[in-house]
Amino acid sequence: MSDCLFCKIIGGQIPAKVVHQDEQSLGFLDIAPQAPTHVLFVPKRHITSLNEATVEDRELLGHLMFVAAKYARENGFAEAGYRQVVNCNRDGGQTVFHIHLHLLGGRSLTWPPG
Ligand code: AMP
Ligand code: ZN
Repeated sequence: MSDCLFCKIIGGQIPAKVVHQDEQSLGFLDIAPQAPTHVLFVPKRHITSLNEATVEDRELLGHLMFVAAKYARENGFAEAGYRQVVNCNRDGGQTVFHIHLHLLGGRSLTWPPG
């Protein structure tokens, strides 16, 4: 999608600190980190939000969860714990409309979120 911020990051038109890359997904540091580690994992194929995800996207969405968990293990904070979050639309607090999974770790997170 030509006017999508995360598609532009995937396409290399906007810089980002990329920490994970594979055929289907990209992981890069959040520009406004909410925890010592805050990585966004996005599918390379544009999906606007969870509301637009189809049955064909199930494996891709699971892939994001899996690579984020692997990142936590490889970076030494899996045992302590972490959070994976996908915000959807206005009430969910979504501000960028290319689906993304937040990986937050490195501090004790509170529940419930605001
Ligand atoms: P959400 O509110 O769930 O849609 O999350 C969007 C996230 O994207 C926020 O945590 C922002 O800080 C982050 N963000 C916005 N612009 C950029 C950017 N250019 N590079 C990295 N992260 C960004
Ligand atoms: Zn996009």
